[in-house]
Formats: sequence, C-alpha cells, structure tokens
Amino acid sequence: MVITLERNVPEKQVEEIIKKLNNLGFDIHRSTGVNRTVLGVIGDTAKIDIRDIKILPGVFNVVRISEPYKLASRSYHKDNSVFNIKNVNIGSNEIVTIAGPCSVESEKQLMTIASEVKKAGAKILRGGAFKPRTSPYAFQGLGEKGLKLLRKAAAEFELLIVTEVMDKDQISLVEQYTDIIQVGARNMQNFTFIRELGKSAKPVFLKRGISATIEEWLMSAEYILSGGNKQVILCERGIRTFETYTRNTLDISAIPIAKKLSHLPVFADPSHGTGLRNEVIPMARAAVAAGADGLMIEVHNNPENALSDGAQSLYPEQFSELMTQIKTIASSIGRNI
Ligand code: PEP
Ligand code: MN
Repeated sequence: MVITLERNVPEKQVEEIIKKLNNLGFDIHRSTGVNRTVLGVIGDTAKIDIRDIKILPGVFNVVRISEPYKLASRSYHKDNSVFNIKNVNIGSNEIVTIAGPCSVESEKQLMTIASEVKKAGAKILRGGAFKPRTSPYAFQGLGEKGLKLLRKAAAEFELLIVTEVMDKDQISLVEQYTDIIQVGARNMQNFTFIRELGKSAKPVFLKRGISATIEEWLMSAEYILSGGNKQVILCERGIRTFETYTRNTLDISAIPIAKKLSHLPVFADPSHGTGLRNEVIPMARAAVAAGADGLMIEVHNNPENALSDGAQSLYPEQFSELMTQIKTIASSIGRNI
C-alpha cells in the first residue's frame, strides 16, 4: 500500500500517521520529497479498510498495490487451476459447455433437452430445481423432484449436473444429487451462505453478482476457498448498466481480466448476460474468443411455453450450430472443445 501525503504536511502529523501504522503492525518506508511525502506500507494490508487511512489528517491518497484476495489470486497460484470432475476437465485447454433449460419443468422436457445438448457436445446439464425469481408468484422450481430428474437425465445421457442452491439450508439436500453447486448472481455476496460452501466437497460455480465489481467477485471466491473448498469456477453472467435493450450487459472484458487476476476457471453465461435469444450466439462466440474456459447456455425444446427464461433460450438446432461455430473459434486460439 502506498500513501501519498498532502503538500507540506507538518512533521508532527507525518509522525502520527507513521505511529498509527506501526501500531497496526506495519513497517513504513518513508520517502520525503520537496513538498510531498510518500509512505510505503510494508506488511499484509489485506485486513485493513483503506478508508481508515484515507480519512487521517494529512493523507492525500492511498493506493493498494497488492490484491485483497490471496487464494484466488494468480500471484498465489501461477498456473491455471484445472478441476477434474468425473473426467470432465474444467479450466484446461478444452472449452467445456454447460447447457440445458432455465428450470427443470417435467421429465419429458428435461429428457428431450438433455438428449439434444448431449448430441451437440455439451458436457454438463444445467437446470434449476430451486429458482430465484423476481416475482414470488412466478414458478419457483420443482424442488427435490427436479433434482431427481436431473440425476436421471445425467445418468441416461452421461452428463454432469450443475444446479443452483439458494440458501444454506438447501446445501445438504442438493449435494446428494448434483456434481456442481451453482451460486446465483443474487447470492454472490450472501456471505453466511458462501462461507458454508467452503466446507462442501462439491465444486462451486460462482456467478458474478448483478452489480459486483471484479474484485468483489474474487473476494466472494476467496470466502469459499478460505473455507477449504479449492474448486471454484467463476462465471460472468452480465452486470446491470444503464442499457435497457438487453436484460444485462455481458462484461466480456471481465473474462480476460478475471483470468489475469486469478488462476480459477472463468465461464461466461450469455443467456442471462443478454436475455435475448438472438444475442446469445454472437456473445457466446465473443466469450470464447475472449478466453472463456467454458459457456453456460440455456436451451429449451419449446421456449415459447417455457416456465422461465424462454426468450433467452436457444432452440436445440441453434445450440448445435453454436457448438460448431465455437469449435472453429477455439481452434484458432489453440484450444479445443
Ligand atoms: C440461472 O442460471 O438459472 C440463474 C438464475 O442465473 P443468475 O443467477 O445468473 O441470474
Ligand atoms: Mn434462467
């Protein structure tokens, strides 16, 4: 951390700032210029609130030079983390696709979609059994019945499963069925919940919060990692901006940035990221070109009558076409599907 002091700060004030930092356990490297003094703070500053320093009399600016997260950081773990989940490698050179409906609606619906996405090359089946809906009157998911259907479809079509857990009390139930636990965007900063996932043996698919900065997203990953669960997969799913044409703004630049800052695999979800079927394919292509390790795509056999997110769900044929297209993009950047 580097602290720049205001011009011509009296020596007594400089000493007070240094004393305060020494009392917090830091060593100070002082550099005295003609009219500005700069203090280099030596030690682990991750625990301190930078604002507590900013408000000290005589302080002009404070800049962190190391990240506030450790286990999630690439400086802690130089190589990409690769998670082998039932022989699907996540974070490797291979781009992994997760596909399926927004919600599990019925056995017939799920089996039809699972068969289609498998045929097109998806490795993981998605589907919500517990749905975080904006309206309390909207379809809330089939609950455990949905989890059972996911397991059945996964067994029949040799797919892995990812499904959302909405709160702490659901973890032990969902763990019995799923291969990967999804944390929804609305829960990214539910700290008591995500801390609990640090104790889970299942990998966690961590969606970026609707208004979360990249740093906040990585801090949430840190919560899970610091609890002992090393398998966290990041997913950019669009953030809220002033734009209203799309449901969210898929932050493509977050993909290379998260990959630079962290060793964790980074996925993209252009379905929730755009909210519009016609925009999903171009944004999926862009995400792969930007270096995503995988995609999450909503697919529905009858999107006009879907119980949730029909407008952003691809028809199975569109999904299949997308898989063909991203194969070409992947190979042009030295990756495969
Ligand atoms: C989902 O993937 O089903 C979902 C609700 O996504 P998000 O949390 O990103 O809105
Ligand atoms: Mn959805």
